[in-house]
Amino acid sequence: MATFGTLSDRLTETFRNLRTKGKLTPADVDGTVREIRRALLDADVALPVVKEFTAKVRERALGDEVNRALNPAQQVVQIVNEELVAILGGQQRRLQFAKNPPTVIMLAGLQGSGKTTFAGKLAKQLEKDGHTPLLVACDLQRPNAVNQLQVVAERAGAAIYAPEPGNGVGDPVKVARDGVETARRQQHDVVIIDTAGRLGVDQELMTQAADIRRATDPDEVLFVIDAMIGQDAVTTAKAFQDGVDFTGVVLSKLDGDARGGAALSVASVTGRPIIFASTGEGLEDLEAFHPDRMASRILD
Ligand code: GDP
Repeated sequence: MATFGTLSDRLTETFRNLRTKGKLTPADVDGTVREIRRALLDADVALPVVKEFTAKVRERALGDEVNRALNPAQQVVQIVNEELVAILGGQQRRLQFAKNPPTVIMLAGLQGSGKTTFAGKLAKQLEKDGHTPLLVACDLQRPNAVNQLQVVAERAGAAIYAPEPGNGVGDPVKVARDGVETARRQQHDVVIIDTAGRLGVDQELMTQAADIRRATDPDEVLFVIDAMIGQDAVTTAKAFQDGVDFTGVVLSKLDGDARGGAALSVASVTGRPIIFASTGEGLEDLEAFHPDRMASRILD
């Protein structure tokens, strides 16, 4: 993952300077916190998140745990690590399955965010784990979207429920409901519903997604967000949270040269956990998201 390259380098440099010191003065702490703040802002982490993060690090770094430490600089690095884990969501959160199958997983996100690709990746991973997922094509806005999901389903070797091609606009809420019903009848234990995404957040789209949510009562609503989105991450995530009240986040394109800000902002501002990291165009390129591993990667 190249994502955190620059941020990682900047923080490493900051800590290298700190390590040359024995006891830390308040001025040392302030200087370090200022550098962390700049590095995070340059990595496109949202300002409120940066402020909260640096305030916590500063408070702890000036406190007793550092004063009493044998190696104060090391202790500050440890604090930054712990606070990074915290803003990334703390504990790892796994996908939740329904007690009574089928488990319904609905996907939402902007067009191009990587939803369809993720649907295929998730189906493939679920199949590997012994599940029998059914993909449901509810993106009836773009003429080619159903077709794309069909291609992805074929590559993943997964079943798909889709309206007939060329069938006009159709009713995505009905397709979603029929899809879940089909899964129940055909004994698929997981349903993955792909919904329409548009270039910007759009009220009609949000209402449609909310209607699909109400009609299918999903166990998980996953918001797929492109890690490259930068400072727009927060407004987009909040709009989707208001619109569909998602239960978890999928960060896609973490293999690209994004600066990592989205990853560090989204979990924090929405209070929803990042569950998966999507790291490439191939169907194998999907990882469970571990806040602690991600923090270590940043501080490597
Ligand atoms: P959707 O419009 O949200 O369904 O987005 P798509 O799944 O069609 O993805 C949009 C583009 O991003 C496609 O060209 C995908 O191949 C690409 N893509 C999706 N996920 C990833 C990822 O994790 N890494 C990279 N590098 N590309 C991705």
